[in-house]
Amino acid sequence: MAYSRALIKISGEALMGEKPYGIDPEIVTSIAKDVSKVVESGTQLAIVVGGGNIFRGLKGSAAGMDRATADYVGMLATVMNAITLQDGLERAGVETRVQTAIEMQQIAEPYIRRRAIRHLEKGRVVVFGGGCGNPFFTTDTTAALRAAEINADVIFKATKVDGVYDRDPKKFPDAIKYKELTFQEVLTREIAVMDSTAIALCKDNKIPIVVFNLFEAENINKAVAGEEIGSLITN
Ligand code: UDP
Repeated sequence: MAYSRALIKISGEALMGEKPYGIDPEIVTSIAKDVSKVVESGTQLAIVVGGGNIFRGLKGSAAGMDRATADYVGMLATVMNAITLQDGLERAGVETRVQTAIEMQQIAEPYIRRRAIRHLEKGRVVVFGGGCGNPFFTTDTTAALRAAEINADVIFKATKVDGVYDRDPKKFPDAIKYKELTFQEVLTREIAVMDSTAIALCKDNKIPIVVFNLFEAENINKAVAGEEIGSLITN
Protein backbone atom coordinates (compact mmCIF):
# COMPACT_ATOMS: atom_id res chain seq x y z
CA MET A 1 0.00 0.00 0.00
CA ALA A 2 1.26 3.47 -0.85
CA TYR A 3 0.00 5.01 2.38
CA SER A 4 0.13 3.69 5.91
CA ARG A 5 -2.30 6.20 7.41
CA ALA A 6 -4.87 8.09 5.38
CA LEU A 7 -7.74 10.42 6.12
CA ILE A 8 -10.74 10.45 3.85
CA LYS A 9 -13.11 13.40 3.69
CA ILE A 10 -16.63 12.37 2.70
CA SER A 11 -18.97 15.27 2.06
CA GLY A 12 -22.60 15.19 3.09
CA GLU A 13 -23.49 15.56 -0.57
CA ALA A 14 -21.67 12.35 -1.37
CA LEU A 15 -23.70 10.47 1.26
CA MET A 16 -26.87 11.90 -0.25
CA GLY A 17 -26.17 10.29 -3.65
CA GLU A 18 -28.97 11.11 -6.08
CA LYS A 19 -31.45 11.88 -3.31
CA PRO A 20 -32.46 15.52 -2.74
CA TYR A 21 -31.79 15.34 1.02
CA GLY A 22 -30.46 13.04 3.71
CA ILE A 23 -28.56 9.79 3.40
CA ASP A 24 -28.76 7.06 0.76
CA PRO A 25 -28.31 3.76 2.62
CA GLU A 26 -26.93 2.10 -0.51
CA ILE A 27 -24.10 4.61 -0.65
CA VAL A 28 -23.28 4.01 3.00
CA THR A 29 -23.14 0.26 2.29
CA SER A 30 -20.90 0.72 -0.72
CA ILE A 31 -18.50 3.04 1.16
CA ALA A 32 -18.41 0.53 4.02
CA LYS A 33 -17.47 -2.28 1.61
CA ASP A 34 -14.60 -0.24 0.16
CA VAL A 35 -13.40 0.81 3.61
CA SER A 36 -13.39 -2.77 4.88
CA LYS A 37 -10.99 -3.71 2.06
CA VAL A 38 -8.75 -0.76 2.92
CA VAL A 39 -8.59 -1.82 6.55
CA GLU A 40 -7.88 -5.44 5.54
CA SER A 41 -4.97 -4.21 3.43
CA GLY A 42 -3.40 -2.77 6.57
CA THR A 43 -3.80 0.94 5.85
CA GLN A 44 -5.05 2.91 8.84
CA LEU A 45 -8.05 5.03 7.97
CA ALA A 46 -9.71 8.02 9.60
CA ILE A 47 -12.82 9.66 8.17
CA VAL A 48 -14.13 13.21 8.40
CA VAL A 49 -17.77 13.55 7.36
CA GLY A 50 -19.56 16.68 6.23
CA GLY A 51 -23.15 17.63 6.88
CA GLY A 52 -24.27 19.48 3.76
CA ASN A 53 -26.85 16.79 2.96
CA ILE A 54 -28.76 17.86 6.05
CA PHE A 55 -27.86 21.42 7.01
CA ARG A 56 -25.37 24.10 6.06
CA GLY A 57 -24.67 27.05 8.34
CA LEU A 58 -24.32 29.48 5.44
CA LYS A 59 -27.78 28.60 4.13
CA GLY A 60 -29.27 28.99 7.60
CA SER A 61 -27.66 32.37 8.04
CA ALA A 62 -28.84 33.48 4.58
CA ALA A 63 -32.35 32.67 5.78
CA GLY A 64 -31.87 34.98 8.75
CA MET A 65 -30.40 32.70 11.41
CA ASP A 66 -27.51 33.81 13.55
CA ARG A 67 -24.45 32.43 11.71
CA ALA A 68 -22.76 30.80 14.70
CA THR A 69 -26.02 29.15 15.78
CA ALA A 70 -26.62 27.91 12.24
CA ASP A 71 -23.10 26.51 12.16
CA TYR A 72 -23.74 24.56 15.36
CA VAL A 73 -26.78 23.00 13.68
CA GLY A 74 -24.49 22.13 10.75
CA MET A 75 -22.02 20.50 13.13
CA LEU A 76 -24.82 18.42 14.67
CA ALA A 77 -25.77 17.31 11.14
CA THR A 78 -22.24 15.94 10.66
CA VAL A 79 -22.66 13.86 13.83
CA MET A 80 -25.80 12.24 12.39
CA ASN A 81 -23.80 11.31 9.31
CA ALA A 82 -20.89 10.05 11.42
CA ILE A 83 -23.11 7.73 13.44
CA THR A 84 -24.91 6.48 10.33
CA LEU A 85 -21.56 5.77 8.71
CA GLN A 86 -20.38 3.94 11.83
CA ASP A 87 -23.48 1.77 11.68
CA GLY A 88 -22.79 0.90 8.03
CA LEU A 89 -19.10 0.22 8.70
CA GLU A 90 -19.81 -2.06 11.64
CA ARG A 91 -22.37 -3.98 9.59
CA ALA A 92 -19.57 -4.54 7.10
CA GLY A 93 -17.41 -5.90 9.92
CA VAL A 94 -15.22 -2.82 10.37
CA GLU A 95 -14.53 -1.89 13.98
CA THR A 96 -15.29 1.82 14.18
CA ARG A 97 -15.18 4.60 16.74
CA VAL A 98 -16.88 7.97 16.36
CA GLN A 99 -15.21 10.91 18.07
CA THR A 100 -17.01 14.24 18.21
CA ALA A 101 -15.49 17.68 18.56
CA ILE A 102 -18.46 18.68 20.72
CA GLU A 103 -18.97 16.29 23.60
CA MET A 104 -22.01 14.02 23.46
CA GLN A 105 -20.71 11.06 25.36
CA GLN A 106 -23.94 9.05 25.33
CA ILE A 107 -23.49 8.46 21.63
CA ALA A 108 -19.80 8.93 20.83
CA GLU A 109 -16.37 9.46 22.33
CA PRO A 110 -15.12 13.00 22.69
CA TYR A 111 -12.26 13.90 20.36
CA ILE A 112 -9.02 12.94 22.07
CA ARG A 113 -6.08 13.00 19.71
CA ARG A 114 -3.95 10.34 21.38
CA ARG A 115 -6.92 8.05 21.76
CA ALA A 116 -7.82 8.46 18.10
CA ILE A 117 -4.28 7.49 17.13
CA ARG A 118 -4.44 4.44 19.42
CA HIS A 119 -7.68 3.31 17.74
CA LEU A 120 -6.03 3.66 14.34
CA GLU A 121 -3.02 1.64 15.47
CA LYS A 122 -5.39 -1.11 16.55
CA GLY A 123 -6.89 -1.20 13.06
CA ARG A 124 -10.11 0.61 13.96
CA VAL A 125 -11.57 3.24 11.70
CA VAL A 126 -12.10 6.56 13.46
CA VAL A 127 -14.91 8.79 12.20
CA PHE A 128 -14.59 12.41 13.28
CA GLY A 129 -17.96 14.12 13.73
CA GLY A 130 -18.91 17.64 14.70
CA GLY A 131 -16.36 19.31 12.43
CA CYS A 132 -13.63 20.96 14.48
CA GLY A 133 -16.21 22.19 16.98
CA ASN A 134 -16.03 25.84 15.95
CA PRO A 135 -18.48 27.89 13.90
CA PHE A 136 -17.16 29.64 10.76
CA PHE A 137 -15.14 26.54 9.88
CA THR A 138 -15.85 23.71 7.46
CA THR A 139 -15.41 19.99 7.49
CA ASP A 140 -12.77 20.39 4.74
CA THR A 141 -10.72 22.46 7.17
CA THR A 142 -11.45 19.86 9.84
CA ALA A 143 -10.07 17.19 7.51
CA ALA A 144 -6.86 19.18 7.06
CA LEU A 145 -6.58 19.81 10.80
CA ARG A 146 -7.24 16.22 11.88
CA ALA A 147 -4.93 14.87 9.17
CA ALA A 148 -2.13 17.06 10.56
CA GLU A 149 -2.94 16.04 14.13
CA ILE A 150 -2.91 12.29 13.47
CA ASN A 151 0.08 12.51 11.09
CA ALA A 152 -1.85 11.19 8.10
CA ASP A 153 0.20 10.70 4.93
CA VAL A 154 -2.56 11.94 2.67
CA ILE A 155 -6.08 13.33 2.49
CA PHE A 156 -8.55 11.72 0.11
CA LYS A 157 -11.25 14.12 -0.91
CA ALA A 158 -14.00 11.84 -2.14
CA THR A 159 -16.51 13.77 -4.22
CA LYS A 160 -19.05 13.45 -6.97
CA VAL A 161 -16.58 14.48 -9.68
CA ASP A 162 -13.51 12.59 -10.77
CA GLY A 163 -10.93 15.28 -10.03
CA VAL A 164 -10.11 18.97 -10.20
CA TYR A 165 -11.06 20.83 -13.38
CA ASP A 166 -10.13 24.30 -14.64
CA ARG A 167 -13.86 25.05 -14.87
CA ASP A 168 -17.05 23.40 -13.66
CA PRO A 169 -17.24 20.24 -15.82
CA LYS A 170 -21.02 20.10 -15.39
CA LYS A 171 -21.42 23.53 -17.00
CA PHE A 172 -18.48 23.41 -19.43
CA PRO A 173 -18.07 20.12 -21.31
CA ASP A 174 -14.62 21.24 -22.56
CA ALA A 175 -13.31 21.73 -19.01
CA ILE A 176 -9.82 20.28 -18.55
CA LYS A 177 -8.98 17.95 -15.68
CA TYR A 178 -5.72 18.51 -13.81
CA LYS A 179 -3.71 15.36 -13.15
CA GLU A 180 -1.51 17.24 -10.72
CA LEU A 181 -1.45 20.77 -9.37
CA THR A 182 0.10 22.67 -6.49
CA PHE A 183 -1.55 24.17 -3.45
CA GLN A 184 -0.33 27.57 -4.61
CA GLU A 185 -2.12 27.14 -7.95
CA VAL A 186 -5.32 26.22 -6.14
CA LEU A 187 -5.04 29.32 -3.95
CA THR A 188 -4.00 31.76 -6.67
CA ARG A 189 -6.60 30.62 -9.20
CA GLU A 190 -9.23 30.22 -6.49
CA ILE A 191 -10.02 26.72 -7.72
CA ALA A 192 -13.04 25.48 -5.80
CA VAL A 193 -11.75 22.18 -4.48
CA MET A 194 -11.58 22.89 -0.74
CA ASP A 195 -11.85 26.20 1.08
CA SER A 196 -8.68 28.28 1.30
CA THR A 197 -8.19 27.62 5.03
CA ALA A 198 -8.08 23.88 4.37
CA ILE A 199 -5.71 24.29 1.42
CA ALA A 200 -3.39 26.57 3.40
CA LEU A 201 -3.25 24.08 6.29
CA CYS A 202 -2.37 21.23 3.93
CA LYS A 203 0.23 23.38 2.19
CA ASP A 204 1.91 24.43 5.46
CA ASN A 205 1.92 20.87 6.79
CA LYS A 206 2.82 19.28 3.44
CA ILE A 207 -0.14 16.91 3.36
CA PRO A 208 -1.01 15.92 -0.22
CA ILE A 209 -4.66 15.76 -1.29
CA VAL A 210 -6.06 13.29 -3.80
CA VAL A 211 -9.43 14.33 -5.24
CA PHE A 212 -11.45 11.53 -6.80
CA ASN A 213 -14.93 10.25 -7.55
CA LEU A 214 -16.36 8.27 -4.67
CA PHE A 215 -18.90 6.61 -6.93
CA GLU A 216 -16.50 4.74 -9.19
CA ALA A 217 -16.10 1.19 -7.93
CA GLU A 218 -13.13 0.51 -5.66
CA ASN A 219 -11.81 4.07 -5.95
CA ILE A 220 -10.95 4.31 -2.26
CA ASN A 221 -8.87 1.15 -2.58
CA LYS A 222 -7.21 2.41 -5.74
CA ALA A 223 -6.35 5.69 -4.02
CA VAL A 224 -4.88 3.89 -1.01
CA ALA A 225 -2.80 1.70 -3.34
CA GLY A 226 -1.39 4.88 -4.88
CA GLU A 227 -2.96 4.30 -8.29
CA GLU A 228 -3.24 7.39 -10.46
CA ILE A 229 -6.85 8.36 -10.06
CA GLY A 230 -8.44 11.79 -9.93
CA SER A 231 -6.18 14.79 -9.27
CA LEU A 232 -3.21 15.11 -6.93
CA ILE A 233 -2.54 18.39 -5.13
CA THR A 234 0.89 18.80 -3.53
CA ASN A 235 3.46 21.42 -2.58
N1 UDP B 1 -19.46 23.38 10.47
C1 UDP B 1 -18.92 24.27 11.36
N2 UDP B 1 -17.66 24.06 11.85
C2 UDP B 1 -16.90 22.99 11.46
C3 UDP B 1 -17.45 22.12 10.51
C4 UDP B 1 -18.73 22.32 10.03
O1 UDP B 1 -19.55 25.24 11.74
O2 UDP B 1 -15.78 22.84 11.94
C5 UDP B 1 -20.86 23.54 10.03
C6 UDP B 1 -21.07 24.57 8.92
O3 UDP B 1 -22.28 25.23 9.17
C7 UDP B 1 -21.23 23.71 7.69
C8 UDP B 1 -21.92 22.47 8.23
O4 UDP B 1 -21.37 22.31 9.54
O5 UDP B 1 -22.02 24.32 6.71
C9 UDP B 1 -21.73 21.21 7.43
O6 UDP B 1 -20.37 21.03 7.11
P1 UDP B 1 -19.80 21.19 5.61
O7 UDP B 1 -20.53 22.27 4.90
O8 UDP B 1 -18.32 21.30 5.70
O9 UDP B 1 -20.21 19.78 5.01
P2 UDP B 1 -20.00 19.20 3.53
O10 UDP B 1 -20.03 20.34 2.54
O11 UDP B 1 -18.71 18.49 3.49
O12 UDP B 1 -21.14 18.25 3.37
